Amino acid sequence: MSVVAWIGLGNMGGPMSANMVAAGHEVRGFDLSAEALATAVTAGVTAAHSIADAVAGADVVFTMLPKGEHARSVYFGADGVLANTDTATLLVDSSTIDIETAQALHDSAAAAGFRFVDAPVSGGISGAKAATLTFMIGGEATAVADATTFIEPMAANIIPTGGATTGQAAKICNNLMLFINLAATAEGAVLADRLGLDKQVFWNIASVSSGDSWALRTWYPVKDVVATAAANRDFAPTFTTELASKDIGLAIAAARATDTPLEIGEHVAELFQRLIDEGEGGKDCSMIVKLVDGTLQP
Ligand code: NAD
Repeated sequence: MSVVAWIGLGNMGGPMSANMVAAGHEVRGFDLSAEALATAVTAGVTAAHSIADAVAGADVVFTMLPKGEHARSVYFGADGVLANTDTATLLVDSSTIDIETAQALHDSAAAAGFRFVDAPVSGGISGAKAATLTFMIGGEATAVADATTFIEPMAANIIPTGGATTGQAAKICNNLMLFINLAATAEGAVLADRLGLDKQVFWNIASVSSGDSWALRTWYPVKDVVATAAANRDFAPTFTTELASKDIGLAIAAARATDTPLEIGEHVAELFQRLIDEGEGGKDCSMIVKLVDGTLQP
């Protein structure tokens, strides 16, 4: 049994930390949201009162935060991880963040004598709950190997990606493809309905045909077709439009830096921005379907 500090107990960090408890670890969690912290406590996480309180004496610190700015504040703040953790502690950032921030975390952690890896995940809330996430891990080889041992109770796939920030690079490219697939799935679903197809019949066909995708099988944006879909729960978020917009923005920034045209990605980014402008940023990103079926008019 190890002592695990967990910072960020939201939609993903909550079930991921619960799986670390189930694996027999002592997990000390901290979140700015009292509600997120209380939910984690019901799964066996011990509530910490601050980041410093959570990380004291931990064998490993996991962070699962929304954006680069949150990661910077959690690692670099006076109450933060680097200032309050022993250098023997392994640091694992599983948030999806920009490559510049990931590099800054690597550089600062290394300068202070820590082992640090960027280890973003894919698989959504359903994968977090089922402990079937894919982890992509970038960093120095021994740190990656050490992180792999801790990550096993949460993962179906653990894939080393190379040096510092390559985990984030893989995640950014993967999510670009995910959100394009989601937009394509929304268009196909609405058109199928207007052509008179039964929603379940069409899904049954597409899921075993060339229109298949993870978005189709997990986030199908039509009510009562796929159990894990937010469309069944009035688009209560499994992955907020704000986070989807952030992720596709990371891809666009990386594409500009590498002179890569992302014409479809840029268009999907505009669709997410339209949802945010309509005040729907906190709802699930599969609400993109409402821009296709016309039930959310700008
Ligand atoms: P979330 O907003 O549900 O959870 C993030 C949590 O971090 C919140 O509870 C928030 O209160 C907490 N937080 C923010 N700043 C903090 C601070 N300074 N100290 C302590 N806690 C702080 O987001 P999520 O859906 O769990 O996503 C987390 C990360 O994982 C994001 O980078 C996201 O892109 C990525 N991700 C999400 C999914 C998904 O399906 N939701 C899948 C893969 C990856």
